[in-house]
Amino acid sequence: MSERHSAGTSASPEPVSVSTSAMPPDLIDTHIHFDDDRFDTDRDRVYHNAIDAGIRAMVIPATVQHRWSKIQHLTTQYDGVFAAYGLHPLFCDQHTDQHLDQLSHQLHRAVGVGECGLDKHKDTTDLQRQRQFFEAQINIARDANLPLIIHARNSLEDVIDMLKPAALNRSHGNGVIHSFNGSIQQAHRLIDLHFKLSFGGPVTFANARKIHKLVTNLPLEAMMLETDAPDQSPAQHRGSRNEPKWIHEVLQAVSTLRGEPVDEIAIASNHNAIALFQLPLDSG
Ligand SMILES: [Zn+2]
Repeated sequence: MSERHSAGTSASPEPVSVSTSAMPPDLIDTHIHFDDDRFDTDRDRVYHNAIDAGIRAMVIPATVQHRWSKIQHLTTQYDGVFAAYGLHPLFCDQHTDQHLDQLSHQLHRAVGVGECGLDKHKDTTDLQRQRQFFEAQINIARDANLPLIIHARNSLEDVIDMLKPAALNRSHGNGVIHSFNGSIQQAHRLIDLHFKLSFGGPVTFANARKIHKLVTNLPLEAMMLETDAPDQSPAQHRGSRNEPKWIHEVLQAVSTLRGEPVDEIAIASNHNAIALFQLPLDSG
């Protein structure tokens, strides 16, 4: 999605205006399930609305093996759409060892491995199985020199314990914990392991004090923005299907909380995403 960007909407020779009608800054949605069936009826419209809202690129993480081909197809159909492939912990009953073998061969044009990780939110009877698939994907990502896209619900200590000895040593960063919701201390341990932390819709809720504290205090160099659409809608759209264009509400919330201009935050998030996923976009 480079049209708007190449049209030169960012720089202006005029003095900085205090007008609030300025174009919204270009953004990368670093985590969107654009393959989700909930977009099947109007995916073109969602995509074009995203472009109109200045979304330059999207990273699609995968959930289960049988959806990989759809994601791959979307990357050829839409400009600026990049794929990650992986096996999500919530769908462990659908994954097989064969899928792990196939994953290693699926990464040819991928920008990451994921969505993988651990989820202890509901029933944890399959936790051992979740660990096996996560560990295997950590190894696959290391061998492929790709960043991990990690889902860690109620499981950050376990995830950190598994990442620590993994000897991931990727020069562009080891991955991202998406929709981060841990403590400041956990955030810093993950930053020390060269992980980014991404934030989406939950930051827009007035009562999300823990997340507010995180986005206020963490360094911008460690942060990225995401939607996780069609899930995790921002507060104003609670109950609706989330869309990539609403990433601006996440951006606005982070800007307000930090007291920093939206452009500064957008530039940092984009820069971090381009570096981590090695996206073929310019960082300006
Ligand atoms: Zn996700």
